[in-house]
Amino acid sequence: MKPQQIGNFRVDRVLEGEGPYFKLDFLLPGAAPDLIAGNADWLKPRFVDPADDRLILAFQSFVLRTGRHTILVDACTGNDKDRPQRPNWHRQKHPYLDRMRAIGVAPEAIDFVFCTHLHADHVGWNTKLENGRWVPTFPNARYLFAKREYEHWEKEHRAAVAAGGEPLAHGSFADSVLPVVEAKRAVFVASDHEIESGVHLEPAYGHTPGNCVLNAKSAGAQGVFIGDVMHTAVQLANPALSSCFCSDPAESAKTRTALVERHAETDTLLFACHFPTPVTGRIRRRGAGFMLAV
Ligand SMILES: [Zn+2]
Repeated sequence: MKPQQIGNFRVDRVLEGEGPYFKLDFLLPGAAPDLIAGNADWLKPRFVDPADDRLILAFQSFVLRTGRHTILVDACTGNDKDRPQRPNWHRQKHPYLDRMRAIGVAPEAIDFVFCTHLHADHVGWNTKLENGRWVPTFPNARYLFAKREYEHWEKEHRAAVAAGGEPLAHGSFADSVLPVVEAKRAVFVASDHEIESGVHLEPAYGHTPGNCVLNAKSAGAQGVFIGDVMHTAVQLANPALSSCFCSDPAESAKTRTALVERHAETDTLLFACHFPTPVTGRIRRRGAGFMLAV
């Protein structure tokens, strides 16, 4: 993604990786089998691999520079994490921090980290391995967690530990969230928290119980960082389709539909965590659904 402007704000992305990933019927249960064919003119080859119809997904963070603050939105899967159940997330060695430095941002320069939700592929870079311990990757950052989201996962974590079962979220709550809290870098905020004038969280529940998006407004322009409210732009063709990873598919569908309707036919730039290069675009109506226009 080329650097984007939202008024006086600048947005860059930091990529972990991207490529063909899931099949439609796995990621979006209930999707009409002809959904891709009916939208092939704008979905292929950007969002859907023409070779086998797999959905192309990216794993990326966004860096929002407002002039006052440098804000990291979502934190990918991270390096060195034990994820034996997910081989492509397991003990990775991504050049993520080098890529961040290449856009002119050192880890020390991050003022805020905001994870839209606490799934393993959004919290990974919260921490790094140092002398066998997980420590905050961004030493000067305050890590903003929506209180409702954190409390949900903290409760689940305690229950999982008590039951001696599988580690929560592939182990990411323990290695990528709790160490931030223990290092006293976490701040628990309301789901509509304002970071600075023009930059505020907004509840977008359904994908997870406390999922939030981040709105950025500057000089009459607007952008929205939607995390996983949509995993793939295919969901624009039918916003009612929730992913197999949504904790409450019905609520997620309501949230997604409202967000898409609100921003359709406006100049709002969309920044979704898993949309592939060139990532961003604007929502336009197309037939009974919508599409992403570059
Ligand atoms: Zn995700």
